[in-house]
Amino acid sequence: MAKKSLWLTYSPEAIQKMNEFCEGYKAFMSTCKTERECTDAFIEMAEKAGYRNLYALIREGVTLVPGDKVYANNREKMLMLVQLGKEPLAEGLRILGAHIDSPRLDLKPHPLYEDSEFAMFKTHYYGGIKKFQWVTLPLALHGVVALKDGSVKKVVIGEDPSDPVLGISDILPHLGKDQMSKPIGEAFTGEDLNVNIGNAAMPDGEDEKELVKKNILRILKDKYGMEEDDFESAEIEVVPAGAARDFGLDRSMVFAYGHDDRICAYTSVLAQLDLADMVPEKTYVTLLVDKEEIGSVGATGMHSKFFENEMAEIMELAGGYSELNIRRMLKNSAMLSSDVSAGFDPNYAGVHEKNNAPLFSYGPVLHKYTGSRGKGGSNDATAEYIAQLRRIFDDAEVRFQLGELGKVDQGGGGTIAYILAQYSMDVIDLGIPLHNMHAPWEVAAKPDIFEAYRAYKVFLEKL
Ligand code: MN
Ligand code: MN
Repeated sequence: MAKKSLWLTYSPEAIQKMNEFCEGYKAFMSTCKTERECTDAFIEMAEKAGYRNLYALIREGVTLVPGDKVYANNREKMLMLVQLGKEPLAEGLRILGAHIDSPRLDLKPHPLYEDSEFAMFKTHYYGGIKKFQWVTLPLALHGVVALKDGSVKKVVIGEDPSDPVLGISDILPHLGKDQMSKPIGEAFTGEDLNVNIGNAAMPDGEDEKELVKKNILRILKDKYGMEEDDFESAEIEVVPAGAARDFGLDRSMVFAYGHDDRICAYTSVLAQLDLADMVPEKTYVTLLVDKEEIGSVGATGMHSKFFENEMAEIMELAGGYSELNIRRMLKNSAMLSSDVSAGFDPNYAGVHEKNNAPLFSYGPVLHKYTGSRGKGGSNDATAEYIAQLRRIFDDAEVRFQLGELGKVDQGGGGTIAYILAQYSMDVIDLGIPLHNMHAPWEVAAKPDIFEAYRAYKVFLEKL
């Protein structure tokens, strides 16, 4: 069947709804640039929609009934939103899963030093970045400093128009002969990504050593009550500074930091919250996980037992808990692993295979498999599951496309799909195509954002 751009099929009213939806998305993306900031924002939205904190419910010994809505927050970096259905949990869940961590530069535990009368931060990159993309950009700091007294200070510098921004320098072309002769992957190393944070040598009335660094420490002390040692218990991420913007003279796209994968997280959360007032047949779950970009490891990554354990807690409160019922619940579930894909880019047509390349404005992309080379590391969804999804999407007139990430031997990628598939539930990737994936600023088409949100809602309601 010949498909067309959504711009040709959306009514004027649909385009207006899409634009309104994307305004909300841009506002979210302009302030939520870390997994913690996403978790905070999503909890606030969920509480407004009637979700309650699982741990408070456990303490109170509440009995959960169909229609009840619960959230579980794992260390401010991973979040589950659960809306209970009429069917017993052992019948299975409808799960939307996305990740809320994005590639970035993290400050090292001892980041601050002075070199040649500049105060600098050492960084350690997180996730798959092309290092040359991170120089000469306005950068911001987002994160937390945990102090020994138990308090946690939130840090955001570089976003308010009155804030300063930070940055990593590059060599002027006039002196770039040696650098320009290096392969692009070697021209910048991880240890080159040092952030310039100041140059003012302020007298301190003591010795004359490291006056720029000492001045920076005074600024941090005034603003956050922190000492230099407190960086040891801080998580501060260096991210691109500035707001998400419309992209294109026709405003058809959105330019933002961290579309991968907050674009799927935001659309999934909104899809589930839209259904908050109903009592569904199946239980709905939106899973928002951390650490996908570094292998889904750690206590807040998808490989942790958090999801399984907290679903056991919920089953206990809802009645009918048993180890066997948990296993049945997991096996009987169906999931959309929602993660971004590589949209066809005419500037780099050579890495795509045109018949199977996801196109901008053709709706979210179903990936039967991801992986690399011979599908290595892939979850390969069954034909039967894809047929079910085709049916519900076609019935609801939700547009989607089937695609591959790029040419077979060009590389590849993975998502959290294979981790949930270990329970032998049905899992498939459904996400939004991007340009510049993992670059400081990524691009997505507005119709794909809106259509993904519609697809997630149809998945929860109709599968
Ligand atoms: Mn991703
Ligand atoms: Mn990624």
